[in-house]
Amino acid sequence: MYANDVIYQELVQICGKENVLRDEPMKYHTLVKIGGKADFLVWPTTYEQVVDVIRLKEKFQIPFTLLGNGSNVIVRDGGIRGIVMQLKHLAEIKVEGEKIIAQSGADIKAVSRFALEHSLTGLEFACGIPGSVGGAIMMNAGAYGGEVKDVLDHVKVVTQKGELKTMYKDDLQLGYRTSIISKTHDVVLEVVFQLEKGDPQKIKAKMDDLTFQRESKQPLEYPSVGSVFKRPPGYFAGKLIQDSGLQGKGVGGAEVSTKHAGFIINKNNATAADYIATIEMVRKTVKEKFGVELELEVKIIGEDA
Ligand SMILES: Cc1cc2nc3c(=O)[nH]c(=O)nc-3n(C[C@H](O)[C@H](O)[C@H](O)COP(=O)(O)OP(=O)(O)OC[C@H]3O[C@@H](n4cnc5c(N)ncnc54)[C@H](O)[C@@H]3O)c2cc1C
Repeated sequence: MYANDVIYQELVQICGKENVLRDEPMKYHTLVKIGGKADFLVWPTTYEQVVDVIRLKEKFQIPFTLLGNGSNVIVRDGGIRGIVMQLKHLAEIKVEGEKIIAQSGADIKAVSRFALEHSLTGLEFACGIPGSVGGAIMMNAGAYGGEVKDVLDHVKVVTQKGELKTMYKDDLQLGYRTSIISKTHDVVLEVVFQLEKGDPQKIKAKMDDLTFQRESKQPLEYPSVGSVFKRPPGYFAGKLIQDSGLQGKGVGGAEVSTKHAGFIINKNNATAADYIATIEMVRKTVKEKFGVELELEVKIIGEDA
């Protein structure tokens, strides 16, 4: 038996056959619809299974990648070696007074809607962010003046050694689209949001307004990763790209959106190589024209083909 067969058997024992995929194209699991094959894609259904998968990758020293909704990642065309774990089956959301407790595989949009249903205010900003709760913590996701940091109480995580721990807001070093999780690679299992009682009509009106703003400004009809670049201090990435005359330009099937210059869309079956070459073209042009280095918000993972 090959080593990969042994690993497959062990993963099936932990998560069940229906929750372990082999040689799975990641373009089916990223919102930009790009990405080569992962050796193994696993979907645990309990926290114990998450811990067991982590212990397994430690035992075999297998590369390990965690994915949320795949809304902020580009997987290179050669795919991902080892195990990719997604927590989409851990998606329960519940309410306790003014707190919402969400498992990290839940959509942050669904949590925002759930807050509205319970007349709780604070998560309106998240109503259009297409990530999971875990991804939103890791990225300190935010929009229209709100961010996760404003409403977070604490999280339960499992470390890369398989140990469970609780981390409070201040432990997480939440900054602009970043957190300490990007260094520790802890796996967020569960999140407790601290909200406040609000008027459901006002909450809904705010969500409707933000949805309108998003739909009118963003090219949501095409697959993308959202904003590719972070906001450079003192500038807006989209404006710099627009003023560089790059809208409508790109490599292969990837193109700088004509609707919002901060977005690069997968217009026509783009490969990761097309998308990354378009990113590099944008960075080079903006640097030449304005002397500004654009830093990536999106994560690029995996191997070249
Ligand atoms: C159309 C569009 C609009 C967007 N608008 C916004 C916006 O307004 N504001 C904004 O902030 N972002 C926005 N994004 C980007 C993206 O949705 C966010 O960054 C989101 O938080 C990523 O969540 P995810 O679950 O998709 O994570 P992924 O993209 O799958 O992963 C991102 C990172 O999070 C890590 N991660 C995922 N789950 C966990 C977990 N459980 N524990 C620890 N780490 C984890 C991954 O390892 C990876 O490093 C947009 C994206 C798109 C496509």
